[in-house]
Amino acid sequence: MTAKKRMGAAKKSAKKKSANKKGAKQKNAKTQRAKKMANPPANAAARTPATSRLAKVRSASEERGQREGSKVQAPPPPPFPPPPPAPLGAHISTAGGTPEAPPRADLIGATAMQIFTKQGNRWAEREVGADEATAFRTALAASGVRFTNAHDSYLINLASPDAALRERSIASFAAELRRCHALGLDALVSHPGNFMDDRASGIARNADAIAQALEQELGPTRLLMELTAGQGTVIGSTFEEMAELLHLIPARMRARIGVCLDTAHVFAAGYDLRGDYDGVWARFADVLGYESLGLIHLNDSKAPLGSKKDRHEEIGAGALGDEPFRRLMTDARLAAVPKLLETPKGDDMVTNDRRALEKLRAFANG
Ligand SMILES: [Zn+2]
Ligand SMILES: [Zn+2]
Repeated sequence: MTAKKRMGAAKKSAKKKSANKKGAKQKNAKTQRAKKMANPPANAAARTPATSRLAKVRSASEERGQREGSKVQAPPPPPFPPPPPAPLGAHISTAGGTPEAPPRADLIGATAMQIFTKQGNRWAEREVGADEATAFRTALAASGVRFTNAHDSYLINLASPDAALRERSIASFAAELRRCHALGLDALVSHPGNFMDDRASGIARNADAIAQALEQELGPTRLLMELTAGQGTVIGSTFEEMAELLHLIPARMRARIGVCLDTAHVFAAGYDLRGDYDGVWARFADVLGYESLGLIHLNDSKAPLGSKKDRHEEIGAGALGDEPFRRLMTDARLAAVPKLLETPKGDDMVTNDRRALEKLRAFANG
Protein backbone atom coordinates (compact mmCIF):
# COMPACT_ATOMS: atom_id res chain seq x y z
CA MET A 1 0.00 0.00 0.00
CA THR A 2 1.37 3.37 -0.98
CA ALA A 3 1.46 6.09 1.57
CA LYS A 4 -1.28 7.90 -0.36
CA LYS A 5 -3.52 4.84 -0.39
CA ARG A 6 -2.84 4.22 3.30
CA MET A 7 -4.00 7.74 4.09
CA GLY A 8 -7.09 7.27 1.94
CA ALA A 9 -7.94 4.02 3.68
CA ALA A 10 -7.43 5.57 7.11
CA LYS A 11 -9.73 8.44 6.17
CA LYS A 12 -12.37 6.03 4.91
CA SER A 13 -12.23 3.98 8.08
CA ALA A 14 -12.47 7.14 10.22
CA LYS A 15 -15.49 8.23 8.21
CA LYS A 16 -17.07 4.82 8.67
CA LYS A 17 -16.39 4.95 12.39
CA SER A 18 -17.96 8.38 12.77
CA ALA A 19 -20.93 7.31 10.64
CA ASN A 20 -21.37 4.30 12.92
CA LYS A 21 -21.14 6.56 15.94
CA LYS A 22 -23.75 8.90 14.46
CA GLY A 23 -26.04 6.00 13.74
CA ALA A 24 -25.63 4.72 17.27
CA LYS A 25 -26.35 8.15 18.66
CA GLN A 26 -29.49 8.53 16.58
CA LYS A 27 -30.62 5.07 17.55
CA ASN A 28 -29.96 5.91 21.18
CA ALA A 29 -31.94 9.17 20.95
CA LYS A 30 -34.80 7.33 19.27
CA THR A 31 -34.87 4.71 22.03
CA GLN A 32 -34.76 7.45 24.66
CA ARG A 33 -37.66 9.26 23.01
CA ALA A 34 -39.67 6.08 22.67
CA LYS A 35 -38.94 5.24 26.31
CA LYS A 36 -40.08 8.72 27.34
CA MET A 37 -43.28 8.35 25.40
CA ALA A 38 -43.96 4.86 26.71
CA ASN A 39 -43.16 5.82 30.31
CA PRO A 40 -44.27 9.35 31.14
CA PRO A 41 -42.76 10.56 34.42
CA ALA A 42 -44.66 8.99 37.29
CA ASN A 43 -45.28 12.36 38.89
CA ALA A 44 -46.63 14.06 35.73
CA ALA A 45 -50.22 13.95 36.93
CA ALA A 46 -49.23 15.08 40.40
CA ARG A 47 -47.40 18.08 38.95
CA THR A 48 -50.49 19.33 37.14
CA PRO A 49 -53.42 18.72 39.44
CA ALA A 50 -55.43 21.70 38.17
CA THR A 51 -55.06 20.84 34.50
CA SER A 52 -56.73 17.47 34.30
CA ARG A 53 -58.12 18.27 30.83
CA LEU A 54 -54.65 19.11 29.66
CA ALA A 55 -53.35 15.90 31.22
CA LYS A 56 -56.02 13.92 29.31
CA VAL A 57 -55.05 15.57 26.03
CA ARG A 58 -51.43 14.78 26.76
CA SER A 59 -52.01 11.15 27.63
CA ALA A 60 -54.14 10.68 24.49
CA SER A 61 -51.30 11.99 22.37
CA GLU A 62 -48.85 9.75 24.21
CA GLU A 63 -51.03 6.74 23.40
CA ARG A 64 -51.10 7.82 19.77
CA GLY A 65 -47.33 8.11 19.94
CA GLN A 66 -47.07 4.52 21.18
CA ARG A 67 -49.36 3.21 18.44
CA GLU A 68 -47.53 5.00 15.67
CA GLY A 69 -44.16 4.06 17.10
CA SER A 70 -41.12 5.91 15.80
CA LYS A 71 -43.08 8.05 13.30
CA VAL A 72 -43.99 10.49 16.06
CA GLN A 73 -40.95 12.67 16.74
CA ALA A 74 -42.08 14.51 19.89
CA PRO A 75 -45.30 15.03 21.83
CA PRO A 76 -47.16 18.15 20.60
CA PRO A 77 -47.06 21.24 22.82
CA PRO A 78 -49.98 21.61 25.24
CA PRO A 79 -52.90 23.42 23.53
CA PHE A 80 -53.19 26.19 26.14
CA PRO A 81 -49.81 26.78 27.77
CA PRO A 82 -50.23 28.76 31.00
CA PRO A 83 -48.90 32.35 30.72
CA PRO A 84 -45.56 32.91 32.44
CA PRO A 85 -45.88 34.62 35.83
CA ALA A 86 -45.52 38.42 35.71
CA PRO A 87 -42.02 39.77 36.41
CA LEU A 88 -41.28 39.91 40.15
CA GLY A 89 -38.24 41.59 41.68
CA ALA A 90 -36.83 44.44 43.72
CA HIS A 91 -35.00 47.73 43.69
CA ILE A 92 -31.39 46.89 42.80
CA SER A 93 -28.18 48.82 43.48
CA THR A 94 -26.24 50.25 40.53
CA ALA A 95 -23.06 50.76 42.58
CA GLY A 96 -20.16 50.49 40.13
CA GLY A 97 -22.39 51.37 37.15
CA THR A 98 -25.74 50.35 35.64
CA PRO A 99 -24.29 47.17 33.99
CA GLU A 100 -23.63 45.84 37.52
CA ALA A 101 -27.37 45.72 38.33
CA PRO A 102 -28.65 42.78 36.20
CA PRO A 103 -26.26 40.20 37.72
CA ARG A 104 -27.25 41.50 41.19
CA ALA A 105 -30.91 40.95 40.27
CA ASP A 106 -30.00 37.36 39.35
CA LEU A 107 -28.52 36.81 42.83
CA ILE A 108 -31.96 37.29 44.41
CA GLY A 109 -33.86 35.48 41.65
CA ALA A 110 -35.53 38.68 40.39
CA THR A 111 -37.25 38.94 37.00
CA ALA A 112 -38.17 42.63 37.53
CA MET A 113 -35.62 45.27 38.43
CA GLN A 114 -35.87 48.92 39.53
CA ILE A 115 -32.77 51.13 39.55
CA PHE A 116 -31.67 54.72 40.01
CA THR A 117 -29.89 55.98 36.91
CA LYS A 118 -28.07 58.60 39.03
CA GLN A 119 -27.78 59.39 42.73
CA GLY A 120 -31.37 60.01 43.78
CA ASN A 121 -30.57 62.67 46.39
CA ARG A 122 -28.27 64.87 44.24
CA TRP A 123 -29.03 67.39 41.51
CA ALA A 124 -25.89 66.48 39.53
CA GLU A 125 -26.98 65.07 36.15
CA ARG A 126 -25.24 62.61 33.90
CA GLU A 127 -25.85 61.21 30.45
CA VAL A 128 -25.77 57.54 29.47
CA GLY A 129 -23.12 57.08 26.76
CA ALA A 130 -23.17 54.48 23.99
CA ASP A 131 -20.65 52.23 25.81
CA GLU A 132 -22.68 52.15 29.02
CA ALA A 133 -25.91 51.54 27.09
CA THR A 134 -24.36 48.58 25.25
CA ALA A 135 -22.81 47.12 28.41
CA PHE A 136 -26.12 47.47 30.27
CA ARG A 137 -28.16 45.89 27.50
CA THR A 138 -25.68 43.01 27.20
CA ALA A 139 -25.76 42.37 30.96
CA LEU A 140 -29.55 42.59 30.95
CA ALA A 141 -29.89 40.11 28.08
CA ALA A 142 -27.65 37.65 29.95
CA SER A 143 -29.80 37.94 33.10
CA GLY A 144 -33.23 36.61 34.01
CA VAL A 145 -34.69 40.13 34.23
CA ARG A 146 -37.70 40.75 31.94
CA PHE A 147 -38.98 44.12 33.26
CA THR A 148 -36.84 47.15 34.04
CA ASN A 149 -37.66 50.56 35.42
CA ALA A 150 -35.91 53.55 36.93
CA HIS A 151 -37.15 55.60 39.88
CA ASP A 152 -36.64 59.33 39.51
CA SER A 153 -34.73 61.60 41.91
CA TYR A 154 -36.42 62.62 45.15
CA LEU A 155 -35.41 66.27 44.65
CA ILE A 156 -37.59 66.78 41.58
CA ASN A 157 -40.73 68.84 42.26
CA LEU A 158 -42.67 69.37 39.05
CA ALA A 159 -45.53 71.04 40.95
CA SER A 160 -43.46 73.74 42.65
CA PRO A 161 -44.73 77.35 42.51
CA ASP A 162 -41.05 78.47 42.63
CA ALA A 163 -40.15 79.14 38.97
CA ALA A 164 -36.44 78.39 39.42
CA LEU A 165 -37.03 75.08 41.25
CA ARG A 166 -39.65 74.08 38.70
CA GLU A 167 -37.32 74.79 35.75
CA ARG A 168 -34.55 72.83 37.43
CA SER A 169 -36.98 70.00 38.13
CA ILE A 170 -38.20 69.85 34.52
CA ALA A 171 -34.61 69.72 33.22
CA SER A 172 -33.74 66.99 35.74
CA PHE A 173 -36.91 65.02 34.93
CA ALA A 174 -36.20 65.24 31.18
CA ALA A 175 -32.68 63.93 31.88
CA GLU A 176 -34.23 60.99 33.81
CA LEU A 177 -36.36 60.15 30.76
CA ARG A 178 -33.34 60.53 28.45
CA ARG A 179 -31.28 58.04 30.50
CA CYS A 180 -34.20 55.58 30.55
CA HIS A 181 -34.52 55.77 26.77
CA ALA A 182 -30.78 55.29 26.31
CA LEU A 183 -30.81 52.20 28.55
CA GLY A 184 -34.04 50.89 26.95
CA LEU A 185 -35.90 50.68 30.28
CA ASP A 186 -39.58 49.74 30.22
CA ALA A 187 -40.70 52.44 32.64
CA LEU A 188 -39.77 55.48 34.71
CA VAL A 189 -41.52 55.80 38.09
CA SER A 190 -42.04 59.38 39.25
CA HIS A 191 -43.63 60.86 42.37
CA PRO A 192 -46.08 63.70 41.81
CA GLY A 193 -44.71 66.91 43.35
CA ASN A 194 -45.63 69.11 46.32
CA PHE A 195 -48.07 71.91 45.47
CA MET A 196 -46.83 74.17 48.32
CA ASP A 197 -49.36 76.99 47.75
CA ASP A 198 -52.62 75.92 46.15
CA ARG A 199 -53.60 72.32 45.33
CA ALA A 200 -55.39 72.91 41.99
CA SER A 201 -52.60 75.15 40.65
CA GLY A 202 -50.01 72.60 41.79
CA ILE A 203 -51.74 69.76 39.92
CA ALA A 204 -51.92 71.94 36.78
CA ARG A 205 -48.20 72.86 37.08
CA ASN A 206 -47.29 69.19 37.58
CA ALA A 207 -49.24 68.08 34.50
CA ASP A 208 -47.79 70.87 32.37
CA ALA A 209 -44.22 70.00 33.43
CA ILE A 210 -44.73 66.30 32.61
CA ALA A 211 -46.07 67.26 29.16
CA GLN A 212 -43.06 69.53 28.50
CA ALA A 213 -40.60 66.74 29.34
CA LEU A 214 -42.49 64.09 27.34
CA GLU A 215 -42.55 66.45 24.37
CA GLN A 216 -38.75 66.91 24.58
CA GLU A 217 -37.80 63.29 25.20
CA LEU A 218 -39.28 60.77 22.80
CA GLY A 219 -38.55 57.10 23.40
CA PRO A 220 -39.85 53.68 24.42
CA THR A 221 -40.01 54.22 28.20
CA ARG A 222 -43.48 54.48 29.78
CA LEU A 223 -43.92 57.07 32.54
CA LEU A 224 -45.61 55.63 35.63
CA MET A 225 -46.86 58.16 38.18
CA GLU A 226 -46.65 56.68 41.69
CA LEU A 227 -49.52 57.05 44.16
CA THR A 228 -48.21 58.83 47.25
CA ALA A 229 -48.79 58.50 51.02
CA GLY A 230 -50.16 62.04 51.26
CA GLN A 231 -47.65 63.67 53.58
CA GLY A 232 -47.56 67.49 53.62
CA THR A 233 -48.67 69.06 50.34
CA VAL A 234 -47.79 66.12 48.09
CA ILE A 235 -50.11 65.49 45.14
CA GLY A 236 -51.50 62.09 44.13
CA SER A 237 -52.44 60.30 47.35
CA THR A 238 -56.03 59.69 46.23
CA PHE A 239 -57.07 57.78 43.10
CA GLU A 240 -59.25 60.77 42.12
CA GLU A 241 -56.40 63.27 42.36
CA MET A 242 -54.11 61.00 40.35
CA ALA A 243 -56.82 60.70 37.69
CA GLU A 244 -57.16 64.49 37.64
CA LEU A 245 -53.40 64.89 37.13
CA LEU A 246 -53.34 62.35 34.31
CA HIS A 247 -56.34 63.94 32.57
CA LEU A 248 -54.61 67.31 32.48
CA ILE A 249 -51.84 65.82 30.33
CA PRO A 250 -52.63 66.16 26.60
CA ALA A 251 -54.56 63.15 25.28
CA ARG A 252 -52.00 62.41 22.55
CA MET A 253 -49.39 61.67 25.28
CA ARG A 254 -51.60 59.52 27.47
CA ALA A 255 -50.59 56.23 25.91
CA ARG A 256 -47.10 56.94 27.26
CA ILE A 257 -48.33 57.31 30.84
CA GLY A 258 -49.67 54.99 33.54
CA VAL A 259 -49.75 54.47 37.28
CA CYS A 260 -47.53 52.72 39.85
CA LEU A 261 -49.36 51.56 42.98
CA ASP A 262 -47.23 51.29 46.13
CA THR A 263 -49.01 49.17 48.75
CA ALA A 264 -47.38 51.04 51.68
CA HIS A 265 -48.23 54.46 50.22
CA VAL A 266 -51.90 53.74 49.50
CA PHE A 267 -52.35 52.09 52.93
CA ALA A 268 -50.84 55.16 54.65
CA ALA A 269 -53.04 57.33 52.43
CA GLY A 270 -56.10 55.59 53.90
CA TYR A 271 -56.88 52.74 51.46
CA ASP A 272 -57.39 49.68 53.66
CA LEU A 273 -55.82 46.89 51.63
CA ARG A 274 -55.89 44.75 54.77
CA GLY A 275 -59.53 45.15 55.88
CA ASP A 276 -61.17 45.97 52.54
CA TYR A 277 -58.98 44.54 49.78
CA ASP A 278 -61.82 44.16 47.27
CA GLY A 279 -63.25 47.58 48.05
CA VAL A 280 -59.91 49.29 47.38
CA TRP A 281 -59.48 47.55 44.03
CA ALA A 282 -63.09 48.23 43.03
CA ARG A 283 -62.41 51.93 43.67
CA PHE A 284 -59.15 51.74 41.71
CA ALA A 285 -60.94 50.09 38.77
CA ASP A 286 -63.66 52.77 38.80
CA VAL A 287 -61.41 55.80 39.03
CA LEU A 288 -58.13 54.85 37.31
CA GLY A 289 -58.84 51.50 35.60
CA TYR A 290 -56.68 48.37 35.57
CA GLU A 291 -55.32 49.29 32.14
CA SER A 292 -53.50 52.26 33.71
CA LEU A 293 -51.64 50.04 36.19
CA GLY A 294 -48.07 49.52 34.96
CA LEU A 295 -46.34 48.42 38.16
CA ILE A 296 -46.98 47.49 41.81
CA HIS A 297 -44.47 48.32 44.54
CA LEU A 298 -44.83 45.58 47.16
CA ASN A 299 -44.00 47.12 50.53
CA ASP A 300 -45.41 46.51 53.98
CA SER A 301 -45.95 49.69 56.02
CA LYS A 302 -44.35 50.64 59.34
CA ALA A 303 -46.93 53.44 59.56
CA PRO A 304 -50.61 52.72 60.32
CA LEU A 305 -53.62 53.08 58.01
CA GLY A 306 -54.31 56.71 57.12
CA SER A 307 -51.14 57.99 58.84
CA LYS A 308 -49.93 59.69 55.60
CA LYS A 309 -46.41 58.56 56.47
CA ASP A 310 -44.21 56.83 53.88
CA ARG A 311 -42.37 54.14 55.90
CA HIS A 312 -41.60 50.84 54.17
CA GLU A 313 -41.37 47.58 56.12
CA GLU A 314 -40.49 43.97 55.21
CA ILE A 315 -43.39 41.94 53.79
CA GLY A 316 -45.56 40.60 56.61
CA ALA A 317 -43.73 42.51 59.37
CA GLY A 318 -45.72 45.75 59.20
CA ALA A 319 -49.25 47.08 59.59
CA LEU A 320 -50.39 45.32 56.39
CA GLY A 321 -49.23 41.80 57.36
CA ASP A 322 -49.02 38.78 55.03
CA GLU A 323 -52.64 38.52 53.89
CA PRO A 324 -52.88 41.47 51.45
CA PHE A 325 -49.71 40.24 49.74
CA ARG A 326 -51.08 36.71 49.46
CA ARG A 327 -54.18 38.23 47.80
CA LEU A 328 -52.08 40.41 45.47
CA MET A 329 -49.97 37.46 44.35
CA THR A 330 -53.02 35.34 43.52
CA ASP A 331 -55.28 38.08 42.09
CA ALA A 332 -56.01 37.17 38.45
CA ARG A 333 -56.70 40.85 37.62
CA LEU A 334 -53.10 41.68 38.59
CA ALA A 335 -51.51 38.55 37.14
CA ALA A 336 -49.78 40.39 34.28
CA VAL A 337 -48.61 43.42 36.29
CA PRO A 338 -44.89 43.52 37.21
CA LYS A 339 -44.31 43.70 40.95
CA LEU A 340 -41.25 44.70 42.95
CA LEU A 341 -40.00 45.18 46.49
CA GLU A 342 -38.65 48.39 48.00
CA THR A 343 -38.34 46.93 51.49
CA PRO A 344 -35.41 47.36 53.91
CA LYS A 345 -32.46 45.22 52.81
CA GLY A 346 -30.70 45.12 56.20
CA ASP A 347 -26.94 45.02 55.92
CA ASP A 348 -26.63 42.92 52.78
CA MET A 349 -28.15 43.24 49.33
CA VAL A 350 -29.17 39.60 48.95
CA THR A 351 -30.59 37.81 52.00
CA ASN A 352 -33.77 39.80 52.82
CA ASP A 353 -34.80 40.36 49.22
CA ARG A 354 -34.24 36.75 48.20
CA ARG A 355 -36.22 35.51 51.19
CA ALA A 356 -39.06 37.96 50.51
CA LEU A 357 -39.25 36.95 46.83
CA GLU A 358 -39.34 33.27 47.82
CA LYS A 359 -42.20 34.05 50.20
CA LEU A 360 -44.13 35.96 47.49
CA ARG A 361 -43.61 33.15 44.97
CA ALA A 362 -44.88 30.67 47.57
CA PHE A 363 -48.02 32.84 47.98
CA ALA A 364 -48.48 32.82 44.20
CA ASN A 365 -48.19 29.03 44.05
CA GLY A 366 -50.73 28.62 46.87
ZN1 LIG B 1 -41.36 55.89 44.92
ZN1 LIG C 1 -42.73 52.94 45.90
